[in-house]
Amino acid sequence: MNSGLYVVATPIGNFGDMSQRAIEVLQNVDLIAAEDTRHSQRLLQFFAIETPTMAYHDHSDERALQRIGHCLADGGSVALVSDAGTPLISDPGYRLVRYVQDSGFSVYPLPGPCAAIAALSVSGLPTDRFLFEGFLPARDGARGNRLAELAAVSTTLIFYEAPHRIEACLQSMIEVFGGDREAVMAREITKTFETIRRGPLAELAQFVGEDSNQRKGEIVLIVAGRPSAEQELDADIAKLLLRLSQELPARQAAAVVADHTGLRKKQLYNYLLSVKQPRAE
Ligand code: SAM
Repeated sequence: MNSGLYVVATPIGNFGDMSQRAIEVLQNVDLIAAEDTRHSQRLLQFFAIETPTMAYHDHSDERALQRIGHCLADGGSVALVSDAGTPLISDPGYRLVRYVQDSGFSVYPLPGPCAAIAALSVSGLPTDRFLFEGFLPARDGARGNRLAELAAVSTTLIFYEAPHRIEACLQSMIEVFGGDREAVMAREITKTFETIRRGPLAELAQFVGEDSNQRKGEIVLIVAGRPSAEQELDADIAKLLLRLSQELPARQAAAVVADHTGLRKKQLYNYLLSVKQPRAE
């Protein structure tokens, strides 16, 4: 195999998700740098991988980096794994990848499981554009401030959250995004108690509050992006606008409704464009 650092994704719960290539690479490298060597032993034993391991996390001292650097300088190869999923995604490895690249060695990705992407793929929320936020601050004030910074983001938002903070986190989201904002809780993905639940934030909070099992295990929270101004239009106003647009050109219909509601003509006109082909003017 080529000398270099192999960044290897591992299962997030179901060992059946381990790729054949990941097994082969972990068997054949000279050294496996693991976030937690004891944790990774279970996986390595399951696949009869006997490669030596060393602990690596982003706070490891220079000696850890140098040990890996020496191995690569000797023409060897090293694999990086985290406890689960894709290294560097809310997991250690960023400092190591830069160090290896800056030292002139190659870094190879071995793609595989990632909780954020697995959750997004079954969320039923828009997947064309999304923002991965990872873990929010643990404390209420800091979490609220960060959420406020995200309140205007219109793309789907992806969060990792610890089970003992899930209720507080949903509460903060309701305060900042509103209880109607659509969201998804993806819990224990690929495991026995896998639960994927989509609904307004207020409903998810109730679901989690009423069933203590929903406050256990590993959780990804996905929140729909801020609805566009067009979608935010009050239902009665939208109905009136649509009815008028059957009688009048879209610009005039928007102007009449703007006069009577104080809303911006442009917003109303854009709404009509977003929901129907305007009448020829
Ligand atoms: N690197 C990992 C990845 O690729 O997904 C993420 C590591 S991060 C330290 C751990 C967090 O990922 C958990 O707290 C949880 O939010 C999420 N997570 C990991 N496995 C999960 C699973 N099976 N189901 C739901 N969320 C999971």
